[in-house]
Amino acid sequence: MLKIKRIGLIAHDACKQHMIQWVEFNAQRLAKHKLICTGTTGRMVQELYDKKYPQLKVVVKRLKSGPLGGDQQMGSLIASGELDILIFFTDPMTTQPHDVDVKALIRLSTIANIVVGCTRSSADFIISSELFDGDYNAIENNYESYVKREV
Ligand code: PGA
Repeated sequence: MLKIKRIGLIAHDACKQHMIQWVEFNAQRLAKHKLICTGTTGRMVQELYDKKYPQLKVVVKRLKSGPLGGDQQMGSLIASGELDILIFFTDPMTTQPHDVDVKALIRLSTIANIVVGCTRSSADFIISSELFDGDYNAIENNYESYVKREV
């Protein structure tokens, strides 16, 4: 039985074409899930579906552009348990004005123990897993002792 996943997609500018190629290669499989993207990535993903796969009727949820707060919006979804998978193609060769947001996203993903792929290979492995469409209950990290610490 298909278990719909909430999948965040973000690509830095130098990686956007890679993201679009990856989405196109996996268009049918991704279309069964809920796609949430930062602004520009989302526009490109939506255009791809509208142009090449209109029959799939995919509606991408678009957040603000990453540097304008979209990464933080994605982080908020992670923190509130509303994201299952994050595919984030980061550009390792360019300093980003929103570098801190990138780091924060990875950190929040670690806290929430969601699935994260930052390279095309890891994205390929993730989407090829039988868990991708299936039921998976991620173990929740327990930070109770942190919350209750004496300060
Ligand atoms: P964008 O944001 O999809 O709006 O380009 C991506 C990013 O975080 O740089």
